Amino acid sequence: MLSHEELLRYSRHLTLPDVGLEGQTKLGAARVLLVGAGGLGSPAALYLAAAGVGTLGIVDSDVVDRSNLQRQILHGTASIGMAKTDSARERLHDINPHVSVKVFPQRLTSANGLAVIRDFDIVVDGSDNFPTRYLVNDACVLLGKPDVYGSIFQFDGQVSVFDASRGPCYRCLFAEPPPPDLVPSCAEGGVLGVLPGIIGSLQALEAIKLIVGLGHPLIGRLLLFDGRRAQFRELALEKDRDCPVCGPNPTVTRLIDYEAFCGVRETGNGKRETVEISPQELYRERGRKPNLVLIDVREPREVEIAHIGGARHIPLRELPSRLSEIPGHGEIVTMCHHGQRSQKAREILVGAGFSNVRSLAGGIDAWSREIDSSVPRY
Ligand code: ZN
Repeated sequence: MLSHEELLRYSRHLTLPDVGLEGQTKLGAARVLLVGAGGLGSPAALYLAAAGVGTLGIVDSDVVDRSNLQRQILHGTASIGMAKTDSARERLHDINPHVSVKVFPQRLTSANGLAVIRDFDIVVDGSDNFPTRYLVNDACVLLGKPDVYGSIFQFDGQVSVFDASRGPCYRCLFAEPPPPDLVPSCAEGGVLGVLPGIIGSLQALEAIKLIVGLGHPLIGRLLLFDGRRAQFRELALEKDRDCPVCGPNPTVTRLIDYEAFCGVRETGNGKRETVEISPQELYRERGRKPNLVLIDVREPREVEIAHIGGARHIPLRELPSRLSEIPGHGEIVTMCHHGQRSQKAREILVGAGFSNVRSLAGGIDAWSREIDSSVPRY
């Protein structure tokens, strides 16, 4: 039974055909897990809490950073430095104190994935990386839960509902992840802040439809949104009979090592350290090695925002055709925004025969934080 306060709070649902008291009661009994409290998770969490979803779980291991605020509207300026899960819980309780918010301030992994997801009815995947996306998909297939998928890049977004009991799963579309160096992150490629607002809101809509049982969910359909043209398109998705996880003869019967599966470099091993240089080491070595060449492989628009004095600028995509500009004998350090593209640049240079190449760990962002705060962060 709803209290007087709840009857008033949800009155626009209660008078809505296909929701009503019955639908509102279903929302109150529902348990939805949000993977990520970032750009997609923000609007999804806000609307699901406001709608009266009884239990919201939030998995996120990050803290709120100033650069998040352009799109992650769950968090405010006063929350910078707080765990995103704590910031989210505060905001959601303010929006609707009837919602029970369960926080998981950790990364979703193969070790904890099934245990975390098991207690929820629906997963809204707002993750921004392939290992988590495959992990969420596989866990949902194994546990028989629907996975409300969304992703964004720059001006484009896509949404679908993967429910292997009624349609295809994410692996039916993409059995294998793309090579890691073909995948620019939002940090590298940029994203218009309102885009995750649109896509995350659609994910909230799909979750509510699944809970209440209204309308036609995006099962077997991929909705594509082009923000520049303001156009939606729809692709019909087929279930893959040979799908490695939801097919009749699955090869994936438990959660696997998704970092390795997606080709993400292991961290913390000795090999990585020899190919990277810390900002402090670079600062010291530049002082005593005048021939050390620093190559900035970021895009020109990034260099306009911030640069390290004395660095040579060769964008990563031009590097293979501009190798002749790089002295062959000296020591080389590659750098980018956060240290991923510079590792790719290092591989290109090593592959071309350069012997002494290291990549600046953490990129210009770490340089700004640890060495020179006059270099703007972005
Ligand atoms: Zn499948």
